[in-house]
Amino acid sequence: MSQWKPRYYDIGVNFSDSMFQGYYNGSQNQKHPCDVEAVIDRAHLFNVKKMLITASTIKESSDHFKLCELYSNQFYSTAGVHPCSVANEFYENETTPLKNVDMKLEELTEIVREGYKLNHIKAFGEIGLDYDRLHYSTKDQQITMFKKQLDILKNLDFKLPLFLHMRAACDDFVEIIKPYIDEGIIPEGFGVVHSFTGTEQELQKILDLGFYIGINGCSLKTEENLQVASKIPIDKLMIETDSPWCEIRKSHASYKYITPYPNTFYPEIESSPQKNLEKSTFKLDDKLPFPSIKKENYQKHSIYVNENATEDSELRFGILSKPMIKSRNEPAEVGQVAEVLCKLHNITEPKEIEKFIDTVFENSLKLFN
Ligand SMILES: [Zn+2]
Repeated sequence: MSQWKPRYYDIGVNFSDSMFQGYYNGSQNQKHPCDVEAVIDRAHLFNVKKMLITASTIKESSDHFKLCELYSNQFYSTAGVHPCSVANEFYENETTPLKNVDMKLEELTEIVREGYKLNHIKAFGEIGLDYDRLHYSTKDQQITMFKKQLDILKNLDFKLPLFLHMRAACDDFVEIIKPYIDEGIIPEGFGVVHSFTGTEQELQKILDLGFYIGINGCSLKTEENLQVASKIPIDKLMIETDSPWCEIRKSHASYKYITPYPNTFYPEIESSPQKNLEKSTFKLDDKLPFPSIKKENYQKHSIYVNENATEDSELRFGILSKPMIKSRNEPAEVGQVAEVLCKLHNITEPKEIEKFIDTVFENSLKLFN
């Protein structure tokens, strides 16, 4: 029997998102207590060895140091301002930048330097362009701040890989970033375009720049998406959840490729619940061996656990006590992205599947370790 086990590097985790604190859709009404620890426990059970926490603002860029310290050599963070956040971060109104933009950029640079020294920050980002969501930041704002952030790279005496966001903006994106590659400011292949949702031509343009491609559930929604994803060379592929967003849903074209636990992507775990759950108020997730409940039922689940668990039972301390929240993605689910991509690449032999998972893991390690 082979001792091989899948290992995953989830390169896109938004732990700063309020959903991990129990707040949903901008509501001030907390649906459940912060459950990041349970989320991390589930990720560990399925060998999500490393996670890159994505920062979207200057504040998040330094806030994440705490988690990185707590889970050193497992959690790393990015530092940078997301294209959808640049208006908020750097502008007084649509056309007037704040007077202290240069100071803010200097602050970001210092966070990058400090985080790099502490081994917390492994990527510069997420930066880029998002023309699907111009209501957050205008094109002009996005382009200006993308360039100004890229200029930070000129002031660093070390090289930091890029974590790039590009949505419906491929031509401008290539035009802006290519000179930095040509001048050697960005070493070739030193970055990933994450959450890729572009066409096959766009994929080619990004690959021509030498970048890796990050794929999550949002990259695999339609048959056309799947077609494009099947063309990504495996040595240029990284996987991510972009959690709490971008889960693979029943309505997605990719869903048919996911098989229930246990399988090669999710080998049997020791603490897997074999209990009779008939009388309980909850069901196990369709695909993973965890209770899965609606956020509204979190409280009900806690009461059930309190009433029914004996002092040392699985229900009190084991994975049954910590439910997954339906429709909220989390790092433990990154193996599903791997499974879909494997099938899209027509890889079916067990040894080949192992090689695929190892290659994708090592791709991420090459850049973000
Ligand atoms: Zn993004």
